[in-house]
Amino acid sequence: MKKTTALLPLLFLSLRASAQPAADKTVRYSPPLTEELTRLREAALASDYGYRRLAHLSHNIGPRLSGSPQAAKAVEYVAAEMRALGAEVSLERLMVPHWVRGAETAELVEYAGQAAGSTQKILVTALGGSAATQADGLTAEVAVVCSMDELRKLGKGKIQGKIVLFDVKFDKSMAEAGYSGDAYHQAVFYRAAGASAAARLGAAASLVRSVGSADFRLPHTGAVNYSSETARIPAGAVAAEDAEMISDLASQGPVKMRLVLTPQTLPDVASANVVADLRGTEHPEQIVLVSGHLDSWDLGTGSIDDGAGVAMAMQTLQLIKRLGLKPKRTVRLVAWMNEENGNRGGETYARDHNDGLMNQILAIESDNGAGHALGFMAHMKPEALAMLKPLSELLAPIGAGIAKHSEEPVEVDITPLQELGVPGAMPLNDRRAYFHYHHTAADTLDKVVPRELQENSAVMSTLAWAAANLPDVLPR
Ligand SMILES: [Zn+2]
Repeated sequence: MKKTTALLPLLFLSLRASAQPAADKTVRYSPPLTEELTRLREAALASDYGYRRLAHLSHNIGPRLSGSPQAAKAVEYVAAEMRALGAEVSLERLMVPHWVRGAETAELVEYAGQAAGSTQKILVTALGGSAATQADGLTAEVAVVCSMDELRKLGKGKIQGKIVLFDVKFDKSMAEAGYSGDAYHQAVFYRAAGASAAARLGAAASLVRSVGSADFRLPHTGAVNYSSETARIPAGAVAAEDAEMISDLASQGPVKMRLVLTPQTLPDVASANVVADLRGTEHPEQIVLVSGHLDSWDLGTGSIDDGAGVAMAMQTLQLIKRLGLKPKRTVRLVAWMNEENGNRGGETYARDHNDGLMNQILAIESDNGAGHALGFMAHMKPEALAMLKPLSELLAPIGAGIAKHSEEPVEVDITPLQELGVPGAMPLNDRRAYFHYHHTAADTLDKVVPRELQENSAVMSTLAWAAANLPDVLPR
């Protein structure tokens, strides 16, 4: 880090000198750089390389939860594919959690108006990391709440020994208006923190209404975050429709549920981030990183979350190679491990590369599916974003002309790097349908439209190419 302080004034001066903002402060790229970017864009739109790799990850390998044989196979697969392209590949080792799903069933066994001898089936899935019920399940009354406030008001007297159901709706209007990420963050709080809040008041188990934007009666999994100060009670998610039914029945009288969740937490397993470099010709030590996360939840095949991001990053290296381009700075693919239930991949990388952070020029990740590309979002200084603005003109013809600043770090795996000052960026795309399938059994390959994946690859590859070849590094 010694160099840092000495370099900063120089960087600033050289940015001013070579970016040559005109009176209107517009940065312009040199004709050769513009030509390379145009070739990359066109090649991305014509290639099925990324889609074929995504198909292999989805169909041949399948769900890739940390610690699973499929996750290990996916590490080998991406490494082999990148070696075949001629990239320098290394596996950066790390230990990951190994949680495996067990039986998961639920039924209402007592409720108002029940037909004698009948029960009502409830569609449920265990949240990642959940503790188990006994093998034959637990039977208890359900207490429905719509907020943490309501839970607190009910207090120990009305929560002790019960199954708490957090019936908190996902704001679909917000998602339809293009703010699905915000809608997700509002609702996901209960998935993460609900179980421990309920356990604090003595609950026997905790359920959330699935965090998702569509009504296909699908439970959505995702991680639960237990507090170290409370008992780890079984935690699941029920389909939105089932949450509504339970809520309605509970307003008529006591509702009893039998809940069976038998997941297991096994010892941590050795795994890896896959790192593949196309070495820079002028500044090989300077890294422009393209990435997605290789692990996925286990219910679907991890196509939108996040095989698509890995495919875009693989496609970026493949296009550079195929066009015979030689980057000035190193273009690095990272296929992250363990985004979904620990973020150990992102944290390990930031820690292991801590001495070379000034050489991590830009970190790009896509972890939002592959809907129609709209542009990109960047967590960086305005003067750094200004250096990437000409990409908007290049990407506008495919509808991806947005270049937006993000106040917060973007994407989970590259957040530790951004918190240490590394500029970050992500492709921005249409996410209105993303949370229909997110973390469900329906996260499968058919949800990715080949043309839209190509558009996103065009965004990722041109963004990386610009950062790898501009005369100056992005200021921070
Ligand atoms: Zn993801």
